Amino acid sequence: MEEYIVSARKYRPTSFDTVVGQQALTTTLKNAVNSGKLAHAYLFCGPRGVGKTTCARIFAKAINCLSPTAEGEACGQCESCQAFNEQRSFNIFELDAASNNSVEHIKTLMEQTRIPPQVGKYKVFIIDEVHMLSTAAFNAFLKTLEEPPAHVIFILATTEKHKILPTILSRCQIYDFERMTVRNTIDHLKSVAQKEGISFEEEALAVIAEKADGGMRDALSIFDQAASFCQGNITYQKVIEDLNVLDAENYFQIIDLALENKAMEIMVLLNNVINKGFDGGLLIQGLAKHVRNVLMARDEQTLPLLEVSDQQRERYQQQAHKCQIPFLYQALRLINQCDINYRQSSNKRLLVELTLIEIAQITQPDDSVGSGRKPRRLKSLFKHLTQTTAQPKKAAPQVAAAEPVAPTQKSQEPTSSSSRISSTTTSATQTNTSNPSSKAGRPQLKSSVSLSWNNLRQKKSSKINVIPGTLGASDPNAAPKDEQHDFTQQDLELQWMSMCNRMPQKYSGIATRMKNMNPQITDFPNVEVLVDNQVAMDQLEQIKKSILSTLKLYLHNKSITLSVRLAEQQEHVRILSRREQFILMEKENPSIAKLKELLNLELA
Ligand SMILES: [Zn+2]
Repeated sequence: MEEYIVSARKYRPTSFDTVVGQQALTTTLKNAVNSGKLAHAYLFCGPRGVGKTTCARIFAKAINCLSPTAEGEACGQCESCQAFNEQRSFNIFELDAASNNSVEHIKTLMEQTRIPPQVGKYKVFIIDEVHMLSTAAFNAFLKTLEEPPAHVIFILATTEKHKILPTILSRCQIYDFERMTVRNTIDHLKSVAQKEGISFEEEALAVIAEKADGGMRDALSIFDQAASFCQGNITYQKVIEDLNVLDAENYFQIIDLALENKAMEIMVLLNNVINKGFDGGLLIQGLAKHVRNVLMARDEQTLPLLEVSDQQRERYQQQAHKCQIPFLYQALRLINQCDINYRQSSNKRLLVELTLIEIAQITQPDDSVGSGRKPRRLKSLFKHLTQTTAQPKKAAPQVAAAEPVAPTQKSQEPTSSSSRISSTTTSATQTNTSNPSSKAGRPQLKSSVSLSWNNLRQKKSSKINVIPGTLGASDPNAAPKDEQHDFTQQDLELQWMSMCNRMPQKYSGIATRMKNMNPQITDFPNVEVLVDNQVAMDQLEQIKKSILSTLKLYLHNKSITLSVRLAEQQEHVRILSRREQFILMEKENPSIAKLKELLNLELA
């Protein structure tokens, strides 16, 4: 059986010409080989996986070649080259300072510098991750670097140039490696795929390139994984599934819908995305990138800034033709605001929803005739609700939004506009009754959609008469009678999320977990909650009664039943993103979560 070699190794460039994406730099190195004007020390800086060590090896081979080509490449035939090819050359020493950073390691290496080479002209010492050397090792190294023997050349490589001491920097010729562009990565992956006889969709390679974030080694290793789970046919669908990347189609749809002011359709789309296990914050970040790409695609000048595959470029251009620049600017501004507020928000989903609604309303004509100032944001969305106030009971709030912490009578006092909007978004009917002064029967919504979240928190801390047996429920008027009201999946999610937010301090742990669960109406009015592990299952079982009575109370249906089920094992193990890895770690060791909270950290 043929030995399997990972692509990153198999297709490691062996000449300057085959190095991807570092042309300026390889040309300079070739010229150096040609002219024979060599420095004693080189410093190769740049992100991981862009070819620093590879170039160092090619360079070492070329300067030792007995008959280099006119272009400055190694001949590959002479005795020295062959020794290099067969990895038996005595002229190249490699030290990975990340794992061998003690003074002994360096001292042993420095002893080698004294012996001149037997074949070839130079002994090349490659020290990888040189910033990791210990101080003592550094000093031992510095001695040799200050007065190196004529036959010695150092090539230092680092991902963190700023950590290199000035005394070293000043003695080195510095080369900055660029991170791989998506275009370069795609092209290289294409050539590897063709050599390996693997079929592919270019979009799929674009996803891999993007995921690799500028590192060719990472790209190739993801490519290998993709090739293996796609069984030789790398398709877009399969790759996004296994890399857990949100389908770009979602972003195109959101913008298309937003241009048509279809906020409700966007809410449904968002719900689907969240149900698939994607975080609202990630969607916002992805959307930011998308809108930016659309903006770039509008103009020939900025078109080269699009780092996507050719097909995607065309799609971006198509969408760009539909979007006016002010729309894109405004959307970017809203998304950015959401991104900034996301961390602090106590109801992240609501924040995302409001942002998307606002984006969907950018192009909406202002319909607030006669009301002078600009009280319009969110307004039209509630129009159908205000029109149905005649039968308030039936007007189920369609807007996905969390109820404030138990709507008490108190919260209906006339308040500042910002606090009003927070209760308005929760239940339009309620606002209407509490806002008799509103002209034309419409709630006077101010445009302060950036919501005062403080308001929610204040209420949380105020004294609430909690109904025994429910989770923070406090509205005595909402006690279940013989109610059998209909409710939608959205109502359920809404109440679930608000319940989580209301839950007393001592349940904060399980409340956080519950926010990530997706209760489903399986067979109306039966609600099923899927949990992914036994611990969560046990915790949930303990408070199941309270959860049930809370849902009954707020969904106005006393027939609701609640079942908790352990999720079945997935058929295959997914490749975890860094975020997912962290979440997994958090689950295994709760103190990590505590640390994260204490230091106010966030995953990038
Ligand atoms: Zn040679």
